[in-house]
Amino acid sequence: MSTAFDFDIIVVGAGHAGIEACLASARLGLKTAIITTNLSRIGYMSCNPSIGGLAKGHMVREIDILGGEMGLAADATCIQYKRLNSGKGPAVRGTRVQNDKDKYSAYMQNLFSKQENLSVISGEAKKLILNNHRCEGVVLHDGSLVRAKAVVITTGTFMNAVMHFGLKQISGGRVGDSATVGISDQLLQYGFNV
Ligand SMILES: Cc1cc2nc3c(=O)[nH]c(=O)nc-3n(C[C@H](O)[C@H](O)[C@H](O)COP(=O)(O)OP(=O)(O)OC[C@H]3O[C@@H](n4cnc5c(N)ncnc54)[C@H](O)[C@@H]3O)c2cc1C
Repeated sequence: MSTAFDFDIIVVGAGHAGIEACLASARLGLKTAIITTNLSRIGYMSCNPSIGGLAKGHMVREIDILGGEMGLAADATCIQYKRLNSGKGPAVRGTRVQNDKDKYSAYMQNLFSKQENLSVISGEAKKLILNNHRCEGVVLHDGSLVRAKAVVITTGTFMNAVMHFGLKQISGGRVGDSATVGISDQLLQYGFNV
């Protein structure tokens, strides 16, 4: 059976990982789609909007060297820079910035709007389209199909996610966002940890 693909690559989730994945793909000339549940939360930062530190700072620099956007966006939307452990030896020093989380998200949304080869789709990927153990697209919450040669899943902390408020537990990916359920069940069936 021949399959008509809509895209070369689909990226599910427009958090930090999804942003870098879809931009890298589009900039390589591949027809790319990014699917995310909430367009106003593209690149949304967590409760303490900071980028860098000893471990993550290292990763941000690696992303930077590979042509990624996180470091550039962190600089462009920075509120405060701090050199951590400046009183200690060079091995434990690191830069950490505090960012304006709304500006950071707006920076990424603006990049998306200008990026060639990139389509932004608002929706929740509910199911993976599997063909002979290959993933060839996703089914969205409204039942529509989006097909691609490969699918990159960057759904962050949303898979079967639970939020803890003291002793109370409720389903949710993050305050204001629901958890992802459909895809996680399929991945579990294929032996992945979720
Ligand atoms: C409470 C908390 C505090 C944190 N504090 C910090 C901090 O201070 N500094 C720091 O550097 N890191 C912090 N982190 C870690 C940081 O938030 C994560 O490492 C980072 O967000 C992971 O990026 P990601 O792209 O993998 O996923 P996320 O940023 O979680 O993005 C996932 C995206 O996928 C989308 N999505 C999920 N399921 C679907 C679906 N089925 N269909 C379509 N879209 C979907 C979501 O809407 C979301 O936009 C914190 C994390 C948490 C939970």
